[in-house]
Amino acid sequence: MTDAQATAKHTDQLTFQDPVTRFPSISPPKQHQPEPGLDQELIPQTDRGEHSYRGTGRLEGRKALITGADSGIGAAVAIGFAREGADIALSYLPEEEADAQEIKAIIEDAGRQAFLFPGDISDQEFCAELVDRAAEALGGLDALVNNAGRQIAIEDIADLSDEQWTHTFDTNIHAIYRITKAALKHMPAGSTIVNSTSIQAYSPSPPLLDYASTKAAINNFTKGLAQQLAPKGIRVNAVAPGPIWTPLQVSDGQPKEKLPKFGKNTPIGRAGQPTELAPAYVFLTSSESSYVLGETLNVNGGNPSP
Ligand code: NAD
Ligand code: MG
Repeated sequence: MTDAQATAKHTDQLTFQDPVTRFPSISPPKQHQPEPGLDQELIPQTDRGEHSYRGTGRLEGRKALITGADSGIGAAVAIGFAREGADIALSYLPEEEADAQEIKAIIEDAGRQAFLFPGDISDQEFCAELVDRAAEALGGLDALVNNAGRQIAIEDIADLSDEQWTHTFDTNIHAIYRITKAALKHMPAGSTIVNSTSIQAYSPSPPLLDYASTKAAINNFTKGLAQQLAPKGIRVNAVAPGPIWTPLQVSDGQPKEKLPKFGKNTPIGRAGQPTELAPAYVFLTSSESSYVLGETLNVNGGNPSP
């Protein structure tokens, strides 16, 4: 990393700066973690905005449930939301407790409340329980970010097991349907839902058949539900990240030999950092986007997308 890049790393997101050099073009070494992977063990470490995200009061008093909030994009969104004034319920897997505790401390440093709900959202019953417990802890619920997901690369459909196919669908899309349905019982007009889809929804990589299919489904679900809920004053949108450096990539999300070049084939020439996603989720959750419904905001370093 050059001196200029090291300095730029801690510049807040509102400062005028060159997006090419805002973060270094990383070449991660080959590495592996068991699913789901920990941010704490990732080489190099990610930037989730802990030293840089500057809030401007855009989510003052909001009550948000964020799934996959312990690490990567979800953690960056949790930090952004807290610094914008929201209290947060964090959903994650029990194995991720160490990452979740770190994000909880950052949220509390921002003067906001953080409530932790470890559990498996591929379990149908847990989805409803999670939402009800989160709403109780927060004293209501007016923002939902369906961000959790699993991505396991398998080169050949012959090796893609029925178990993996089902587990990916249960985690990535069935849980969104279940959590959303349970959340709507708590949500007043003005509430928002933001779903994490992916560039994989339109440009599927050959080893991600199950994952990419769920991301296409999330996009479609977002656009259908947005129309259904519009008259009730509840807005539904999605964010479609490109290659973002997170634990997802080293826990079999990518073939290991691809890690050193991760994200370099984007027009901007580098992988994204999780904190670069936070403003998209903040915008779609804040009332400033009141006329934006059923939109998928692509945050992908410049790859053309529909
Ligand atoms: P991440 O590993 O940091 O986050 C994924 C989170 O999902 C995990 O932290 C975990 O808490 C949660 N999760 C997975 N299975 C779960 C289960 N059964 N129960 C409860 N929680 C579970 O990785 P990330 O890249 O920040 O991923 C966040 C979202 O962004 C995912 O939906 C992913 O598909 C999407 N996305 C990521 C990229 C990227 O390049 N990193 C690109 C496009 C889309
Ligand atoms: Mg995690």
